[in-house]
Amino acid sequence: MILYQSTNRRADSVNLGEALLRGLAPDKGLYMPQRIPQIPAELLARAHNLTYAELAAELLAPYAEGVFSRDLLSEICESCYTFPVPLEHVRNNRWVMRLDQGPTASFKDFAARFMGRALGRLVRECGKELLILTATSGDTGSAVANAFLGVEGIRLLVLFPIDEVSERQRKQMTTLGDNVSTLAMDGKFDDCQALVKQAFSDPDLESLRLSSANSINIGRLLPQSVYYVYAASRVADIAHGEPVIFSVPSGNFGDLMGGVLAFKGGLPVSRFVVATNANDEVPKFFETGRYEKIEPSRVCLSNAMNVGHPSNLARLVDVYGGQMDETGTLHKAPDMQALRRDFFGVSVDNELTRETIRNAYRETALTLEPHGAVGWAGLEKYLQTHPSALGSAAVSMETAHPAKFPDEIVSLTGSEPELPVSLQGLEEKVEHYGEMSIDYAAFKAHLRQHYLLQR
Ligand SMILES: *Cc1c(COP(=O)(O)O)cnc(C)c1O
Repeated sequence: MILYQSTNRRADSVNLGEALLRGLAPDKGLYMPQRIPQIPAELLARAHNLTYAELAAELLAPYAEGVFSRDLLSEICESCYTFPVPLEHVRNNRWVMRLDQGPTASFKDFAARFMGRALGRLVRECGKELLILTATSGDTGSAVANAFLGVEGIRLLVLFPIDEVSERQRKQMTTLGDNVSTLAMDGKFDDCQALVKQAFSDPDLESLRLSSANSINIGRLLPQSVYYVYAASRVADIAHGEPVIFSVPSGNFGDLMGGVLAFKGGLPVSRFVVATNANDEVPKFFETGRYEKIEPSRVCLSNAMNVGHPSNLARLVDVYGGQMDETGTLHKAPDMQALRRDFFGVSVDNELTRETIRNAYRETALTLEPHGAVGWAGLEKYLQTHPSALGSAAVSMETAHPAKFPDEIVSLTGSEPELPVSLQGLEEKVEHYGEMSIDYAAFKAHLRQHYLLQR
């Protein structure tokens, strides 16, 4: 059985169930598997014949051993992955993987749905209610809300900054009802995040059984390793070790960490292109070995990637033999040489993001949105500077649906992206949300009143 240890190494190791329920380790570190299970060669050889859900169940089984049975895991995966995962061939051997076909049209659906179902099972077994708090700047809130809607024994409270989420994003969270509540906060995303963090460490709220659905939770990471294997099995002969290049538009580095797990599990990957927007603290770190967070984070078009201190960087450092605490202080340097060998960091500004959307549409009829465009631009830059990589299959991730950014896409391409079914009919739905200013005492009173006294 695989145990999960904290990146800060000052907490006991736990099984997957405990790690999912806790979110953050008690020493404020992040849970990581003590060893990364190797993908059996025979599984790599037949991966291309499996459906997404079948592949997910097989890959996740070793991580969940002793906690979820194989049958249960298959059942969970079959009910999570009911939407297509298209690999769109662009030109030569370059592909875009569309991770935007889930119920909230962002790649966060892949992990959120798994986590909702997995936590639902754990809560049912232990019979104690759980309150999930999550702060969002947009996509996390809707993906998590959709994934947890109707899950018995779990209540979800989403905090969002009223001025920072788009109307469509807000309606995706506030029209659900049932066990999903939302609070519009008169403040910034960072303020919402800080309130949530303070609540987690407040001993007065212990009896609420709080947990997190942000990407600090290992449950938000493991399922994201699956689509790397899925894509590679469709574009390359991975059974014979043919490597693939992945380009990953990154903010908090949860998506990338999924790829790292697959890679360290034996998936042949020649390079990860780590593409950020102007929040370039990680590309700089790869280059210089010095880590400096960006405070406050820079506001860019690819708003889900406006992160100046990515929480999952501590996990990447951990895998490469170093240690970084939650404040971003490096206690032990990772193997920088290995990091530079495996990752190519690149920062893409707004201007290049827009140019990429325009050119991709004109030259190859490829519709990108700002996040996917950062990935695509990063891949192009990598291939320009590494001509020897031109022969390899390369997959760039499209992490959101272009219809989430209609104005930007219309102005750049002259064409309106088609609204996916998941985003249709939102206008007519009725919204319910509370409003609050950024004030911990008021937030705490709200939690006690709505969640504690009702038990
Ligand atoms: C969250 C998000 C990202 C960034 O993913 P990380 O795992 O935080 O690096 C990229 N694109 C979109 C559309 C997102 O919602």
